[in-house]
Amino acid sequence: MPELPEVETVRQGLERHVVGRTVESVKVLHPRAVRRHPAGATDFEDAIAGRPVSGARRRGKYLWLPVGEDALLAHLGMSGQMLVGDPARPVSPHVRVVFTFADGGPDLRFTDQRTFGHLCFVPGGAVLPAPIAHIAPDPLEPVFDEKSFSLALRGRRTGIKRALLDQSLISGIGNIYADESLWRARLHWARPTDALIGPAIGRLMASVREVLVTALAAGGTSFDSLYVNVNGESGYFDRSLAVYGQAGRPCPRCGTPVRRDAFMNRSAFSCPRCQPRPRNGRW
Ligand SMILES: [Zn+2]
Repeated sequence: MPELPEVETVRQGLERHVVGRTVESVKVLHPRAVRRHPAGATDFEDAIAGRPVSGARRRGKYLWLPVGEDALLAHLGMSGQMLVGDPARPVSPHVRVVFTFADGGPDLRFTDQRTFGHLCFVPGGAVLPAPIAHIAPDPLEPVFDEKSFSLALRGRRTGIKRALLDQSLISGIGNIYADESLWRARLHWARPTDALIGPAIGRLMASVREVLVTALAAGGTSFDSLYVNVNGESGYFDRSLAVYGQAGRPCPRCGTPVRRDAFMNRSAFSCPRCQPRPRNGRW
């Protein structure tokens, strides 16, 4: 599942290879890719053909390309990719939508093997598309406000990891980066948010940014190639994971074996020594 750094890598690739160009034609090869566009595939194609792309923006794991006052909104799902390349190359079986450009240069192909991703056209959505207006800013967005996040966080009665995954509070942090950030900040995933003190929140937010920026830098190696890609495997970051998926291996900081707990039908990984479990809900 692509997380924020992977999606940001795709955004930067789109900014480099697509922004400033005018779409010539759009061809939907699989209707499922535009299932969230109620007027259907032909309407989607007609709405975007002939429009100049003026930007490449992101909120959490959503991407959008402003076209005039409107927007082409995309979610990559589990396996979505945006591939830019020679229009003459063969069309792979997983290509769902093809965009060609008026300059006759490289085309853009939305490829999605598992078809959980989708594209839609949002009238008036250039600044912030309505379908994602309820999603909170992510920590790498300039509009992210740490003070209001901190207040909202302490107003919730929940555990810190659950709060980090709540898109109405903060967006773009998935399971992997939540565990890695909590480990860096030495906070147990179940620590109650309403008992967090300011310095702990500051430490956590610094850790979240560090983790995201590190992952982003690691994913940046493919920016220069004419191939904008996200594969959902997150492979480049795997080598530097401290706790996520590392159950039984030594904590890189203290050597204690990493612990795996069941968490919301998934897992939470932590170091039992660096991140002690809260007692009586207080520390
Ligand atoms: Zn440790």
